[in-house]
Amino acid sequence: MSTFLPLADTYGRVHRDLRVSLTDRCNLRCTYCMPSDFADWLPSETLLTTDELMLVIEVATSLGITGVRLTGGEPTLRPDIVDIVRRINELPARPEISVTTNGIRLVDLAQPLRDAGLKRVNVSLDTLDRDRFKALTYRDRFDDVIAGLRAAVAAGLTPVKVNAVLMRGVNDDEAITLVQRAIDEGWRLRFIEQMPLDAGGQWSRGEMIKADEIFTMLSEKWTLTPVASRGSAPAEEFSIDGSDVTVGIIASVSKPFCAACDRLRLTADGQLRNCLFARDELDLRVALRDESLSEDERRAEVERRLRLVVADKLPGHGINDPSFIQPARPMSAIGG
Ligand code: SAM
Ligand code: SF4
Repeated sequence: MSTFLPLADTYGRVHRDLRVSLTDRCNLRCTYCMPSDFADWLPSETLLTTDELMLVIEVATSLGITGVRLTGGEPTLRPDIVDIVRRINELPARPEISVTTNGIRLVDLAQPLRDAGLKRVNVSLDTLDRDRFKALTYRDRFDDVIAGLRAAVAAGLTPVKVNAVLMRGVNDDEAITLVQRAIDEGWRLRFIEQMPLDAGGQWSRGEMIKADEIFTMLSEKWTLTPVASRGSAPAEEFSIDGSDVTVGIIASVSKPFCAACDRLRLTADGQLRNCLFARDELDLRVALRDESLSEDERRAEVERRLRLVVADKLPGHGINDPSFIQPARPMSAIGG
């Protein structure tokens, strides 16, 4: 009988969370993620097929991965996303499935995704102003996102989490209105510090709005009290005025949570990454497409590569080191 060995790295971090990018394509062009004229798309023949994806997810869940988050690019652009969710839900390990999306297609997809086994959804929304949304994303889709958020709540994909990135001089005057709207609509809002992952290389440490500044802005209106330990979750959650309504702040840059990181990433073209900021990737696609391997050998090779990429994980992302170099791929191609 074989002994179960979890995906533990050399620092003792056991990996339980797999982020799977379903596509690098997107129907928005958020300025902090992709330039408006971005055209450096992955060639379609390099994208993993659904059967290839499923094999990786199946092996990963047999090694202790308990959460699978589908992301991108915009994951809802993958035509068979509902089928993918259903197939993951039918795996023997029954991982918890979540999706990170810009929300535009949720009007049509929230209920089918829920019926297929989706538990939770994270929707990105950085502004409540329609014109500003258009300027920030180069697309006039604000109303679709709001309708998508309402469809997610109605389908029971709750708590619906909303991710917002505040940028100086762009939307930093909306911290309080975003939280107030979240309270009114029943969303759970989390602010994410802007990270150096944009395809245009525009990120600036000096300009970035840090977690402490967000806390100060919100404290002008509410009393924020930290709630219980966050485990491996990236957001530090605060109760608002002592109620059970919370707001989260993800301080990826100013207070990195690498010591508790349990995440692995699979890009849409089948590359494994042990960190958003990793400079190296490990090629799984080559193993998935190696016709000299039997089905069992292919599984064994996927397992071997998953263990290798975990074993290679560094203690931290190094954003604050003077030698930090931004990864070559933008966030949209890594899978946020
Ligand atoms: N398209 C989907 C969406 O926008 O939710 C999923 C992919 S997107 C890359 C995932 C998350 O990454 C979003 O919440 C987005 O706001 C965030 N994101 C993208 N670029 C970022 C950056 N440079 N810094 C911080 N967050 C970023
Ligand atoms: Fe698209 Fe999401 Fe990137 Fe915005 S953050 S451009 S919605 S992938």
